[in-house]
Amino acid sequence: MIDSRLVRADATKLDELNQIMTEQENADRLCEITMKDISIGHGTAKKVCEAVASLTEGKKLLMVTGPTDILDAEGKKVKDTVLSLLKEKYEVEWFVLSEPDSIVHATPENAAKIQAHFEGVDCVVGVGSGTICDLCKYATYYFNHENPLPLVIVQTALSVNAFSDDSSVMLINGVKRTVHSRYPSILIIDLDIVSAAPAEMNVSGYGDLIATWTAPVDWYLGNVLGMGKNFHTAPSDMIRTQCEELLENSAKLAEGDTKVLGDLANVLTLSGLSMGLANESSPASGSEHVMSHLIDMASGVRKTGICYHGTQVAVSGINSEIIWDWFLNEFDPKSVDLEKCYPTLAEMEPKVKAAFDWLDDTHNAANECWADYQKKLTRWHENKDKFAALLENFDEFKQTVAPWVKKPEYVADCMHKANAPCRYSVLNYPVDAKTATWAMTNCHLMRNRFSVIDLLHFAGVWNDEFVQMIIDRADAMDAGL
Ligand SMILES: [Zn+2]
Repeated sequence: MIDSRLVRADATKLDELNQIMTEQENADRLCEITMKDISIGHGTAKKVCEAVASLTEGKKLLMVTGPTDILDAEGKKVKDTVLSLLKEKYEVEWFVLSEPDSIVHATPENAAKIQAHFEGVDCVVGVGSGTICDLCKYATYYFNHENPLPLVIVQTALSVNAFSDDSSVMLINGVKRTVHSRYPSILIIDLDIVSAAPAEMNVSGYGDLIATWTAPVDWYLGNVLGMGKNFHTAPSDMIRTQCEELLENSAKLAEGDTKVLGDLANVLTLSGLSMGLANESSPASGSEHVMSHLIDMASGVRKTGICYHGTQVAVSGINSEIIWDWFLNEFDPKSVDLEKCYPTLAEMEPKVKAAFDWLDDTHNAANECWADYQKKLTRWHENKDKFAALLENFDEFKQTVAPWVKKPEYVADCMHKANAPCRYSVLNYPVDAKTATWAMTNCHLMRNRFSVIDLLHFAGVWNDEFVQMIIDRADAMDAGL
């Protein structure tokens, strides 16, 4: 039974949430949310000085932003507003992070540029979207992880769920990696600011939540197979119902309905918290995210920008839903020859390296992916008995996960209503068919985390024809390539 208090969870009531979590069965698998406060509402950015004052008695602040202008609902420049509010009480240095083409990447190099301004600083205030937040979390944590600087984030768009988690998605050696960092101390979501964000940014947050219908099942599957640990239903129970309502309200979101935007802010923030609670991103990042990560990794070679994260994840989410739908309805456990499901490290190494070698001349990306993949392959060999048991008890498994997935056709229909792009070719940096197909075909080779695609690959199902089946089925929904 789902704890009814989780069904209507409120991201701004952190003490209540932490209390509910301690009362769950197997509560020891869940981590405490150590943020001090989250505020969601109209005009909440005005309280930025109060937020800082609750964290430090010091007077020196570092405000970190990206280079582009962000306007609020009245057309005023958000960064200037926050700066003048802070200056009423504090000594503020404003550091603008920029790169050529005004696209800022979450790299350790950019984090080091922020850290170079930490001398004598009492608190960091980040104003911006996901990349600025990831960089501020990473920079403060790796500068002093035992006692990181207090961090206030003023979120300027509902673009991703990662504002409210304790990790950062960083581009390391050209590979997207989720690394542990820290929570912001305080997160401020001012609906007057986020409602004025470009519609495609808020639809990106809606898209990030599409992973709700695949990531938790991938997480559960991995745990059943001994490929992951600490699965718990509470992080997803906390968002599933509100996510369902959001899908139902897709058309209203497209119309800019403020109530629905507030709901999106709440459930998106809860989704971030679900990753912190699980101490890993698995509740919100499964195979759909890996496909998206691969496309990002190829952007350097393709000399193109990186698409809005959640928008790209949502297109990939339709693929993952097709895969799960096939797995639960078409997969025949009796057709699996267990002895053929265990390729050796020597067999897989050239395959993994070939998949990623074209990304750079240094082979860094290929080596990084192989280093992570071989851990997964080793564990797969060690847990053979668990796969045998799953094949034996597949009906039971299907019954457990059936309520956690959605039909891909339904999700695609909702996305169309939300005005969310459903094809890679229409993303803000269009992804060509060859790159998208490469990303789908090889995504399981990138990282240690297990998904349904790994199972299908080991079972001999995952091949070019299977990927083509996904592409064709998505195409029938006006989605996919
Ligand atoms: Zn995401």
